[in-house]
Amino acid sequence: GDTIRISLTPEPDGDRCLEVEVAQQLLQTMGFRQFLPVVTACPGCGRTTSTVFQQLAKDIQDHLNTSMPIWREKYPGVEGMSVAVMGCIVNGPGESKHADIGISLPGTGETPAAPVFIDGQKAKTLRGADIADQFKLMVAEYIEERFGT
Ligand code: SF4
Repeated sequence: GDTIRISLTPEPDGDRCLEVEVAQQLLQTMGFRQFLPVVTACPGCGRTTSTVFQQLAKDIQDHLNTSMPIWREKYPGVEGMSVAVMGCIVNGPGESKHADIGISLPGTGETPAAPVFIDGQKAKTLRGADIADQFKLMVAEYIEERFGT
C-alpha cells in the first residue's frame, strides 16, 4: 500500500509516460521489482571522442525495450538482466564484469578492440567496423542460452 510518487516537468510537447519509466527504474534499482533489463552505459568524458558508445547504448536499450513484450513470455526472468556498454579501458572492463554481459569499447587513442565480458569473465574481443552488430548478436545468444526454456 505504500506509494512513491514521481513528478517530472515535461519537455514542451513531452511524454508524461516518462514519469512511469522513472518510477519503474527507481523500484528496479532499489531491488523491489524488475520491469526491463537494465543498461549501464558510459556517460562519456575526455577519454572518448566518438559517439559509438552513445549509439550502441541507445540501440541496445531500444532493442531490449521493443523486444520485451515477446521476451517476457519466451525468456522468463530476462527483465532482471543487466547489460553494460562502456566507453574506454579505464572503467569498461570493471563495469562490464559487474553486468551479465558487457562491452568495453575503445576510447580515444586505444587499440580498436572491444572485449566482451559474460557473467564476469572475458568471453571474446570484437574487432572491425561492425562491433555494435556483433555485440547485439552476442546479447541475443546470451539471452537464448540463459533464459531460453
Ligand atoms: S567508461 Fe571511460 S570514457 Fe566512459 S565515462 Fe568512464 S572513463 Fe570516461
